[in-house]
Amino acid sequence: MAKEYKVDRQVFDEVMVPCYAPMQMIPVKGQGARVWDQEGREYVDFAGGIAVSCLGHCHPVMVDALKAQAEQIWHLSNVMTNEPALRLAKLLTEHSFADKVFFANSGAEANEAALKLARRYAADKFGPEKSEIISFKQGFHGRTFFTVTVGGQEAYSDGFGPKPGAVTHLAYNDLSSLAEHMSERTCAVMMEPLQGEGGIVSPTPEFIQGVRELCDKHNALLIFDEVQTGNGRTGDFYAYQGLGVTPDILSTAKSLGGGFPIGAMLTTSELAAHLKIGTHGSTYGGNPLACAVAEAVVSEVTKPEVLAGVKQREQWFREALEAINAKYPVFAEIRGKGLLLGAALNEEWQGRARDILLAAGEEGLMVLVAGTNVVRFTPSLVIDKADIDEGMARLERAIAKIYS
Ligand SMILES: *Cc1c(COP(=O)(O)O)cnc(C)c1O
Repeated sequence: MAKEYKVDRQVFDEVMVPCYAPMQMIPVKGQGARVWDQEGREYVDFAGGIAVSCLGHCHPVMVDALKAQAEQIWHLSNVMTNEPALRLAKLLTEHSFADKVFFANSGAEANEAALKLARRYAADKFGPEKSEIISFKQGFHGRTFFTVTVGGQEAYSDGFGPKPGAVTHLAYNDLSSLAEHMSERTCAVMMEPLQGEGGIVSPTPEFIQGVRELCDKHNALLIFDEVQTGNGRTGDFYAYQGLGVTPDILSTAKSLGGGFPIGAMLTTSELAAHLKIGTHGSTYGGNPLACAVAEAVVSEVTKPEVLAGVKQREQWFREALEAINAKYPVFAEIRGKGLLLGAALNEEWQGRARDILLAAGEEGLMVLVAGTNVVRFTPSLVIDKADIDEGMARLERAIAKIYS
């Protein structure tokens, strides 16, 4: 049996690496879009574990899938394949452009696989000179050293010694700078089809279309990082499906497992053929427990009524945020798509996103920030109208308290 003794927030400071600054309360139970902490205080969850808990907490389809698999087989290693992994891979190829799937355990690892595949493909097909990875400022691709270097915030990759080379950062939504910069040396362009961590920034139609055309022109691969946008978040199963632009490689994680760690890299048969036996791998990647849960999540999220429901909920969120803003003008703009929404603060409120997050917490509401000027909402894709109404009432009280 696990040791039974009371832990509190103090223990974090004693024994945890201080790379996070968690809130004081410690949640112990979640159901749907509600969470309870150690003291029994209840919260409405508009954060969803940063775009992870796409079916809310402890959704019965996830709980059932996990319990059923827990009594079958937990782990095999990739020396053998397993049924949940095969079923999940089938499902992902049926619902996307991809023919092939590589399983990992996180978004960063899915991106690491995407980047390694792009480099390997270019080297095999065009030679070692074709190695440049182009990505965008404010972009976020994870925390492994390669992915964090490709990410567009130097502060995250500085201070760890020599960085992986041949990585170029350009401005998002600036097609002419990309056109100027791209060459036959460009191996791949990696981008989020809606920047999440970078502040909820949508691509313009011209930009996203233009990136695809430039990639084709220069024989470069287009990698969409859909770790945050994927699995129904924007109202399409993958965001690219709503943009009319198809990537060559796509990474997915976060909502894929609905709260169970899993990531995947999706691609075409032609590209996948370049990751031959022994070129890449992962001990836990494709783990039966993770894949069984993800299979249940994907089966649920791809239902037309769930995807349509995301668009309906986006409307409810936008209307409620506009109504709060009419009483207490703090937002300049509500942006994003589906249930990946950002409320960008106006001139007078610059830098105060975290103040709103903390005030919301006091009122029993969990929200997120994206940078210092955007309050971010990534709730369950199936959150009830009543939970949205209650959460918005709490957000209004929180803003009223700090509004002056
Ligand atoms: C969260 C995120 C990642 C990193 O995922 P991890 O599972 O934390 O490794 C990568 N890309 C994007 C766009 C993300 O939002």
